[in-house]
Amino acid sequence: MIVKIKCPKCKTDGSLSIVGSDYRGPYRCWKCRELFTIEMKNDELKSCEPLSQEELDKQQEIEALKAKFKQH
Ligand SMILES: [Zn+2]
Repeated sequence: MIVKIKCPKCKTDGSLSIVGSDYRGPYRCWKCRELFTIEMKNDELKSCEPLSQEELDKQQEIEALKAKFKQH
């Protein structure tokens, strides 16, 4: 499903496709390119925290490691 997210920085509406109605993960504004960690519950935006590129890289590294683990 596609959810609408308003960028906390520039107030631009963006959209994000998620699986199910809950989501916690990175979101990047298409306009100002700002990164956030957002948390959705029952299609509602519960929290939104600024995220740095380094933090995102770290998170993706961890996710990649987890995925690797599952395969073996
Ligand atoms: Zn923005």
